[in-house]
Amino acid sequence: MPPENNMKYQKLVELYEAMDSTTKRLEKTAILSEFLKMVGEKDPENLPEVTLLSLGRIFPTWSEEELGIGSKLLMKAISLVVGVSPEEVEDQIRESGDIGYASQELFQRKVQSTLFMRPLTIDKVYQNLVKIADITGGRSQYKKLEILRELLSSATPHEAKYITRTVLEELRVGVGEGTLKDAIARAFNIPKEVVERAQMLTNDLGLVAKVAREEGASGLRRLTLKPGKPVKPMLAQLSTDYQISIRDMGYALCETKYDGIRVQIHRINDEINIFTRRLENISPALPEITEYIKKAIKPAEFIVEGEIIVTKEGKPISFQYILQRVRRKYDIERLREEIPLTLYLFDVLYYQKPTLDEPLKDRRRLLEEIVDIIPGKLELSKQVKATPQTSDKALQLFNESIEEGHEGVMLKDPNAPYTPGLRGKKMLKWKATPETLDLVVVGGTYGTGKRAHLIGSFRLALQDENKKLKTLAHVATGLDDKTLQELNDMSEPLITLKVGRKVEMVPSIIMEVAFSEIVKSPEYESGYSLRFPVVKRIRTDISIDDIDTVERVESIYQNMEIL
Ligand code: AMP
Repeated sequence: MPPENNMKYQKLVELYEAMDSTTKRLEKTAILSEFLKMVGEKDPENLPEVTLLSLGRIFPTWSEEELGIGSKLLMKAISLVVGVSPEEVEDQIRESGDIGYASQELFQRKVQSTLFMRPLTIDKVYQNLVKIADITGGRSQYKKLEILRELLSSATPHEAKYITRTVLEELRVGVGEGTLKDAIARAFNIPKEVVERAQMLTNDLGLVAKVAREEGASGLRRLTLKPGKPVKPMLAQLSTDYQISIRDMGYALCETKYDGIRVQIHRINDEINIFTRRLENISPALPEITEYIKKAIKPAEFIVEGEIIVTKEGKPISFQYILQRVRRKYDIERLREEIPLTLYLFDVLYYQKPTLDEPLKDRRRLLEEIVDIIPGKLELSKQVKATPQTSDKALQLFNESIEEGHEGVMLKDPNAPYTPGLRGKKMLKWKATPETLDLVVVGGTYGTGKRAHLIGSFRLALQDENKKLKTLAHVATGLDDKTLQELNDMSEPLITLKVGRKVEMVPSIIMEVAFSEIVKSPEYESGYSLRFPVVKRIRTDISIDDIDTVERVESIYQNMEIL
């Protein structure tokens, strides 16, 4: 390669300093776009790496590769190069509050043999950092240290400032992905949406810059997603009124909204990878999901999407459990028994070819064709079609979903393509209100048959402004057998009156109750009632004085009206 094609790292340092010298985004964009254009002309080979480095990154967003250098190792490298103790390096960092400034300061003390040194090129810095990331296994820390030491020993104080920051992934020049995307669009004269879309599909701004320069907008339009490289999920907005939402969409595909973690599952050859919405690969923690996928979906290269929830005896249980599974590195086989998972698939982005531009209704049909469900383990999201005339089907699904313990319903536009990373009106969420009320138990009703000896339904009250209790609802769900028994044990001494199956109780037990909606109701003293109340927990941490008020219920009711 001719020497002028080997751009000096010093040039990148000048770029960083220029971007850091202004707080104005437009100016930063202009500086960066000029730089990318210049690199595109003088050193096109290096454009992808310069693009990534301008954000302080080595690897594209989709990649799982990491440098694996902690601040301790970096401090050691600095101390070796500069010839001071690691403690001195640490002191300097503490004093300047930043690894970059500290390095610059310390490197000024370095015996300057720079006269005889070959200046660092961008490529050399980049390739060495890649090499560091590639080192694994025995003595890897030592080997990483050696490369880092060699790299830093050729660095000037200014270069050290930015190399050290890049190593710790904190460049601090106030440039983010948004500015970089604007700069690429401007440098290569391409509409911003085209750059945005290419980035969404590839998660690799280095590649986007390269294609933008070489092939322009039409080249970028040809970029698409690939199994193995995760994309950011399409996001949902809140539906303010399901009937209006359905009307706006013409008709809607309504699906149960499961409360777990969203996963994007990729298959290439025999390899299955499961990514979170933040593109983290969690496959090792969830071996059964890989097994289910292999069994249920006809082999091909594909990307499917869904939600994983924890179920016990067919019922969803708290979302918290799933975090225990996802974060787990050991004992996975045992946990797999204790915390069983169900995957509900709801989309397919790729099957032998990209499908994301096809309308949702066709993607769903494809999903139904390629998946053989495994009951209780791998299923498709429950879906109904609702038109403006049959919008009650959506309401019915909502009520069923809440009753089954799910979060609500998603309303999806059947004609919409899949738009990674975008939050739009093509997918709306309609949740049971996340609000809960703290209510006191004032009575209850015994069950029938086998449950005749247990109070199964509790009458709940809140307080008015004079601290008088006013009834609001009956609640009969959300309690497991053990808690129900405990509640009955607590209730027994509080009973003041029994009439048939009904009892009155001294107000004492406080429950936190979730619900789907507040409605006006003459049946209860407060004038309101709850739809689908569910006990979240028994509250022993507050007293009757702290329970919720009629006033709060009124205000939630009014807010719901305008939502
Ligand atoms: P939210 O996290 O409240 O913004 O709601 C959107 C999330 O709901 C998505 O990111 C998914 O994780 C989740 N979800 C659950 N069920 C579905 C479904 N059937 N379709 C799409 N998203 C779903």
